[in-house]
Amino acid sequence: MFFADYHIHTSFSSDSTAEMPKMIEKAIELGLKEIMITDHMDIGFPSHDMLFTLNYSDYSDAVNLYKVLYKDRIDVLIGVEMGLQKHIVRDARMFTEFNPFDFVIGSTHVINGLDVSDSRFFEGKTKKEAYTEYFENVLENAKLHDCYNVYGHLDYINRYSHYEDNSLEYKDYSDIIDEILKVLVSKGKGLDINTSGYRYGLGRTNPQLDIVKRFKELGGEIVTVGSDAHKPEDVGAYFAEAYAMLKEAGFKYTASFRNKKATMVKL
Ligand SMILES: [Zn+2]
Ligand SMILES: [Zn+2]
Repeated sequence: MFFADYHIHTSFSSDSTAEMPKMIEKAIELGLKEIMITDHMDIGFPSHDMLFTLNYSDYSDAVNLYKVLYKDRIDVLIGVEMGLQKHIVRDARMFTEFNPFDFVIGSTHVINGLDVSDSRFFEGKTKKEAYTEYFENVLENAKLHDCYNVYGHLDYINRYSHYEDNSLEYKDYSDIIDEILKVLVSKGKGLDINTSGYRYGLGRTNPQLDIVKRFKELGGEIVTVGSDAHKPEDVGAYFAEAYAMLKEAGFKYTASFRNKKATMVKL
């Protein structure tokens, strides 16, 4: 049985219309013990149609209501997926410290004013240049910010590229990826094992097995598994694959979070 889904979007995210109780009910149906709601907060997102800002008061009211309503069936927890950029370190810290959260995912969604899902990010760049720029940005954010518990979908950049060969292998970026992993380990941070790679046709989790294995070798301990679901049918999707991958990478535990503090739960 799977333990929990730690990456869930609801209608509090600009890119989801999913009703929170529908997501929770799906998690209960799957037998999960916990569900971490992690709606988007992207300060300085470069689009006026999609703001990706979160009103904490409305959001926490909703999560707390469902926490009570479902308390005998599942633990409903309050998290956030913070978009990290180098110029918002203070804002990100204030948002996650003044507002109580159980868990914070830090993700790179925007680089130099461009959403990485925008094809303009890749324009005029070779694959190597674009992917390296992405990882350099992750490294910078991982160092500068301290507000996050796990780094989101670490190697997902090839989800959005349109090269003839979009593949992204650890061995081709091992120097910079190792640097990122060492920063995460030294700061006691973890990895979001994101199963949406399967839904995007990548055929694997983000990050991939080789990166998760390397994280473990370098002393990494904290991993959480999340579907990144934006609709109920995706809650808990591809968890069998993710749990098997984690075991292959040498992990015996996944983390559970309360008030941004981890405890370990056997896989
Ligand atoms: Zn994300
Ligand atoms: Zn997400």
